[in-house]
Amino acid sequence: MIYGSTRSENKDVKSSEAIIKGIAHDGGLYIPLNIPKIDRELGELKKLDYKELAFYILKKYLTDFDDQELIDCINNAYDDKFDNYDIVPVENRGTVNFMELYHGPTLAFKDMALTILPHFMKTAAKKLDINKEIVILTATSGDTGKAALEGFANVTGVRIIVFYPKDGVSEIQKRQMITQKGENTHVVGIDGNFDDAQNAVKEIFGDRDFNNRLNDKGYIFSSANSINIGRLVPQIVYYIYGYLNLLNKNEIKEKEKINIVVPTGNFGNILAAYYAKMMGLPINKLICASNENKILTDFINTGIYDINREFKTTVSPSMDILISSNLERLLYHISMNNYDKIKSFMEDLKNNGVYEVDESIKHNLKDFYGAFATEQETYETIKNVYEELSYVIDPHTAVAYNVYKKYIKQTEDNNTKTLIASTASPFKFTRTVYTAIDGKSDYDDFRLIDMLAEKTSIDVPKSILELKKKEILHKNTCKRNNIKNTVEKILGL
Ligand SMILES: *Cc1c(COP(=O)(O)O)cnc(C)c1O
Repeated sequence: MIYGSTRSENKDVKSSEAIIKGIAHDGGLYIPLNIPKIDRELGELKKLDYKELAFYILKKYLTDFDDQELIDCINNAYDDKFDNYDIVPVENRGTVNFMELYHGPTLAFKDMALTILPHFMKTAAKKLDINKEIVILTATSGDTGKAALEGFANVTGVRIIVFYPKDGVSEIQKRQMITQKGENTHVVGIDGNFDDAQNAVKEIFGDRDFNNRLNDKGYIFSSANSINIGRLVPQIVYYIYGYLNLLNKNEIKEKEKINIVVPTGNFGNILAAYYAKMMGLPINKLICASNENKILTDFINTGIYDINREFKTTVSPSMDILISSNLERLLYHISMNNYDKIKSFMEDLKNNGVYEVDESIKHNLKDFYGAFATEQETYETIKNVYEELSYVIDPHTAVAYNVYKKYIKQTEDNNTKTLIASTASPFKFTRTVYTAIDGKSDYDDFRLIDMLAEKTSIDVPKSILELKKKEILHKNTCKRNNIKNTVEKILGL
C-alpha cells in the first residue's frame, strides 16, 4: 500500500513514513492510493473478535508492518484498558443501535485510535531507523488531547505537547488533561478556540526553517490529530465490527444496507465510515450530524464551504470546529483524485475562507446526509432518549440522534437499520447530561457525577472516580499567537 498527498502527485510513501510524518511535504494529507476491498464473506468475518478483525483490516493498509508487529500493536492497544470485554459493545433500541465507542481509558472514541497510534509510531520509527526524539504536537477540542496524552505518556523516544482551548472544554475534560502524569507530557491552555490551535500546529508542521532547527537539535515533529493516517485506519475497524455485530444478532441479513450516523467535527470519524463503505461494507446513507457550528451541514447541502461565520461554544465542545481537516480527504476521493483541484480549494480556504466545489463533486456528496441540532434540541434529545429508551447519552451522541430523527422525518426511511456512533461517555459531560435529565443544578461537577450515577443506576467509570483525587500538574497557558514560541521554550530551542 502506497500513500500519496491530497495536494500533489509523487513523493509517495509507505505507511510507516506517513505515520511518522503525519502530514505530507506539501501541506496535504496522506491518503491510501487505492482502497482495499473486504475480500472475505461478511458471514465469515462475523466470527472474529475485535482484535482479529482489527488485524484483518489493518493488514490491508499497513502493508510494510509484518504480522507479528501488527499483532503486538493490537494486543498492546485493545486490552484491559477498555472496561468492556467486547471493546465496542452495541446497544440495540428498535431500528437504532448505539455503537459505544467510549469504553477506553479516557471515555471518548478517540481512544479507539490513540491507544494503538503510539505503538504504530514506535514500530514505524524502528523500521525507518529514526533515532531522533519524536515530538507529538497536538491541538485538541477536548478529547484528542487526553487520549493522546494517555497513549504517549512515558513512551520512550517520544515527547508530547497538547494545546487546548482553555475556556472551550468541559470541566472533566480539562481536569483529565491537567492531571496527566509522565515526564514527557506537556499541556498548555490557549486563549483561543480549537481552530486557532489546529491552525498554529499545522503552520508549525509546514515551517521549513523551524523544522530544520528542530532537526539539528535532535527532534522531529509528528501529529496525533486525525490528519495522521495512523488515526484514520484503526477507526475503519469499528464500523465493520458494528455491522457484523448486527449480523450476529440477526438484526440484519448479510449484504443488507444500514445507515450510519456520526456526530462530526474534524470529519475524521465519519471519513472512516466512508472508507468502510468504499471497502465494500453495505452502507446506505452516511449521516453527518453537526451542532450549531453547522458548516458541514451547509457544505453537504450547498457545496459551499464558508468559514466566514460566528464560532459558537456549545455543549458538544468536541465538535466546535469550523475547519474540518479531513474533508480534504473526502474531496480528494470524490473528485476522482484531482489533487490540483484540492490544492486550489485549500488555497481559496486559506486566502478567502471559502470555496465552492463543482457539480460533479456536489453530485458525489449524495452518499451523505447533513443536518444539525441546536443547543435546545441537544438537551431535549438527552432527556427524551433517557425517558423513552431508558438510555443515557452524552451531548455529542444526542446531536447524532437528533439529526437521525430529522433524517427519518425528511426521507421517511423508517426501515433501514441504523448504527449511531456513540462517541463519549455521559459522565464526561455530566453537567449537560444531568441538567437535561433533571434540571439545572448548582453542585460541582464531581457531585453531579454521583448524582447522575444514582439517578440512572449506571456505575461511574473508574477513571472518573480516580480523577477527583489527582493532583493538578499542568498550569501553563499561552496566547493564541504565541504557540510557536511556547513550543520553542518547551523544547529548549
Ligand atoms: C472528536 C469527537 C467528535 C468529532 O469527531 P471527528 O472525528 O472530529 O469528526 C465527536 N464526539 C466526541 C465525543 C469527540 O471526542
